[in-house]
Amino acid sequence: MSSTSCCQAISGPFFCRSRTSLRLIAVMAIAGALLLTPTASLQAGWKAGLSKAELTPRTDVWLAGYGSKRVATETLHPLWMKALALDDGAGHQVVLITSDFQGVPKGMSDRVFKQVKKKHGLQRHQIMFTFSHNHCGPRLGEDLIDYYQVEEAQEELVRKYTDRMVIVSVDLIGRALADLQPATIHTGQGRSTFAVNRRNNREADVPALLAAGKALVGPVDHTVPVMTVTGKDDNLRAILFGYACHPTTLSFTKWCGDYPGYAQVEIEKNHPGALAMFVNTCGGDQNPLPRRKLELCQKYGHMLAVGVEEALKKKPLRPVAPGLKTAFEYVPLAYQKLVTRETLTQAQKSSNRIERRWATRLLGKLDNGVKFSPTYPYPIHAWRLGKDTLMIGMGAETVVDFALRFKNEFGPRTWVCGYADDMISYIPSRRVWEEGGYEGGARLYEYGRPAYRWAGDVEKRIATSVHKLVKQVSK
Ligand SMILES: [Zn+2]
Repeated sequence: MSSTSCCQAISGPFFCRSRTSLRLIAVMAIAGALLLTPTASLQAGWKAGLSKAELTPRTDVWLAGYGSKRVATETLHPLWMKALALDDGAGHQVVLITSDFQGVPKGMSDRVFKQVKKKHGLQRHQIMFTFSHNHCGPRLGEDLIDYYQVEEAQEELVRKYTDRMVIVSVDLIGRALADLQPATIHTGQGRSTFAVNRRNNREADVPALLAAGKALVGPVDHTVPVMTVTGKDDNLRAILFGYACHPTTLSFTKWCGDYPGYAQVEIEKNHPGALAMFVNTCGGDQNPLPRRKLELCQKYGHMLAVGVEEALKKKPLRPVAPGLKTAFEYVPLAYQKLVTRETLTQAQKSSNRIERRWATRLLGKLDNGVKFSPTYPYPIHAWRLGKDTLMIGMGAETVVDFALRFKNEFGPRTWVCGYADDMISYIPSRRVWEEGGYEGGARLYEYGRPAYRWAGDVEKRIATSVHKLVKQVSK
């Protein structure tokens, strides 16, 4: 698929007003600026809108991830989608969605983007649909389709649930836009240390290493980026925060948001009336270790909430001046080698049940005349807020190297959000690709892709695009 790009500004209501109104607004703005403090006048242009919607299934849609049939037995806390709409007062708007989903597939998010464009006029570059990758959340659409045993009744439940979530997502965005009201935005940074590089530390060894006070190894990103949205009278309306780690503390049959869910519950309790929103930054190769106990999940949620609170206490937080620029494109990521009828026929004899299901499904596609594309359209966003706050949104399970690299290249006020718009697969850096293993090796069949591996230039293609988009929003 060819690469497309868009970076156009949209016309906001400000530009539709008459000349007389414009003159009046200009006079009022000058008069207002004289009365305001320097900080307040700096922030006069932002508007923010917020909304939330519950996504806890009402049917027996299975829990997602891990490749087994899991039917929920109870709900520990509700699951949520939350939206933050921002308007810079100069005609530019964006909407960021955070959610407790395990993986939003392209088939679902594309439907949302299409409907939002029609209903609310927002273009693709103005919406980022992130998911925490919560393994105590529900299945959605074709996400990890070959992970699960095929049961027709379950497929129907997943289809119906996904249809409902499309409607809920579009409505959520509409409500956030309808809620736009004057706001100030600040950023800060905390720290939390429970994420462990799972490629470089054996899970079974971690408790003993930690107990002995020994250092764990491998790249990690323990920063907790924080952004606050404040309304009139300094009323805290939203706290957006990020962390790079898999929400895989738990593997059971109860709905909850795993550690990000517990962190959001605690932050919202600490700040009544404010919405806590979580983005998984680049946690593709990071795990919360040790794990598998509810107490540990609650502990990590608390540790993350403490990291956020520490950032909030470091007063003053840094104000973000009004101003919004957005750029987006699909980068074609190449597969190393497309599967053939022969390789799929061979894979049907695999001892791995996921690989067998994948091979049979893809053979069916070939039988129906489907031609597989040698590339996958990988979504990348660059959003510039104010002068120097940069949000890079990347599809799928990006390993931590991407966050470390882009923060190094674009500065400490850069957020690198993984798990945006499309679940796809793991996205290895060149280092991880060369090392192979779970996140870098021949495992694309688990995600239903028509190949075993990405080509070796995945990081190069992504970095080239990110630099191009960042340049566009830096003008
Ligand atoms: Zn994962």
